[in-house]
Amino acid sequence: MANVLYDALFAGLAGSDRPLLVLQDGREITGGAFSAMVSRFAHVLTAAGVVAGDRVAVQIAKSPEALAIYAATVAVGGIFLPLNTAYTTDEVSYFLGNATPRLFLCDGVKATAMAPVAAAAGAQLMVLNGDGSGSFPDAAAGLPDVFSPVARGPEDLAAFLYTSGTTGRSKGAMLSHRNLLSNAEVLAREWRFTKHDVLLHALPIFHTHGLFVASNVALLTGGAMIFLPGYDVNEVIRLLPKATAMMGVPTFYTRLLDDGRFTRDLVTHMRLFTSGSAPLLAETHVLFEERTGHRILERYGMTETNMNTSNPYDGERRAGTVGMPLPGVELKITDPTTGVTLPQGEAGMIEVRGPNVFQGYWQMPEKTREELREDGFFITGDIGVVDADGYVAIVGRQKDLIITGGYNVYPKEVELILDEQPGVLESAVIGLPHPDFGEAVFGVLVAQKGATPDTSAIMDALAGRLAKFKQPKGLMVVADLPRNTMGKVQKNLLRDQFKGRFAKS
Ligand code: AMP
Repeated sequence: MANVLYDALFAGLAGSDRPLLVLQDGREITGGAFSAMVSRFAHVLTAAGVVAGDRVAVQIAKSPEALAIYAATVAVGGIFLPLNTAYTTDEVSYFLGNATPRLFLCDGVKATAMAPVAAAAGAQLMVLNGDGSGSFPDAAAGLPDVFSPVARGPEDLAAFLYTSGTTGRSKGAMLSHRNLLSNAEVLAREWRFTKHDVLLHALPIFHTHGLFVASNVALLTGGAMIFLPGYDVNEVIRLLPKATAMMGVPTFYTRLLDDGRFTRDLVTHMRLFTSGSAPLLAETHVLFEERTGHRILERYGMTETNMNTSNPYDGERRAGTVGMPLPGVELKITDPTTGVTLPQGEAGMIEVRGPNVFQGYWQMPEKTREELREDGFFITGDIGVVDADGYVAIVGRQKDLIITGGYNVYPKEVELILDEQPGVLESAVIGLPHPDFGEAVFGVLVAQKGATPDTSAIMDALAGRLAKFKQPKGLMVVADLPRNTMGKVQKNLLRDQFKGRFAKS
């Protein structure tokens, strides 16, 4: 019987003696060995009472076993729910309470703290450690190496991914077999993945980028993955010669560029570098090409939609843009208040529709109605603009829009100019409470190595380039911008840090 996602990603691995996962210590796990592990794990899930439609939540380190649990959950018809390993017990308690999984897997060091949390949510707790040990794999020992997957159709759910929730509570995005498979198929085709590829995989697998974009594409096309537990620039430099492609967040690339060992010779053989999850600075794009001769391919997506747009594989990869809508994805720019489609060239809300768009937020029908239109368009919350050639540029998140004295300021417009100023490596522009203007534009700068940006000269330079209301009312140089694991700048933390700046004394 058919199980849409399992059949496409995992069924072909049975009996294969080709390497699927190459580990840091050089160990190789063949497709056949992985498939046998998936089957044993599927038997454990079944024995634990997991049936079609049940959630299996995990907060575990990245490992071959962790990937096998994803596959096994799909095999038994369950819904895979990976959680960021940085979440605290309180945060996990919210997710388990919301998703009510049948089973929750965590690392052994957290098991005591998590036991009451799992119990309160009615979930059975089992352990999987980063080294592959624990009560879950113990229970798999000796179980059969084959498993008949439970039938699942394209509309059935395969995963819940919770949004990062920087405003309000995190929401569980329900993703169907069709959502995941259609996107993997499109990306594999557009990015020319084949069974000969070796993907350097240094992304976490609790997020759409590492789990669905990276792993699903490699699994679908029968290639191999160099499966690193995390991003370590030394390891990436050591292993790049063995890879053909790498997918990363922008910080992966800036850290490589900071390292003198990252040379053209090291990567001449590489086929593809992609970037996403956060904006790639145009400067990084240019420096990367100068250093390596490769142009990074930037794409855009999110938890709720998988990938929406991509720069072309053949054709111009345009810095500062996220490329064009992927085949099958419709994208329009609308007025954020009226929802009316705007003319080409105007900035507005990015809305997308296609087989990639999720099925709604788990048990949050009102939130779903607010963001997912009846005609299937999802209101992404990202503000973008489409140029005359169809390339989409992200201007910023709507929630980061600054309203100062009644005027709208998109931070990106100011950041792009700040980034060009002497001594400035990068910037983040935020709105801070202001007694007269409601919000004041404020710029946070990071200096280039060894430089000291002259903030008053920068203010003067901006005066010639931006309308008065867009010019920052203050600038501050900091050592680093706060970023989450996916490399996104956490503007909410900056707003908190500087919120008293313009308060009346
Ligand atoms: P997440 O749901 O955690 O994957 O976050 C999705 C958000 O990341 C999107 O809504 C965008 O705001 C941002 N994002 C993803 N890719 C890009 C990109 N290439 N450039 C700019 N922002 C991006």
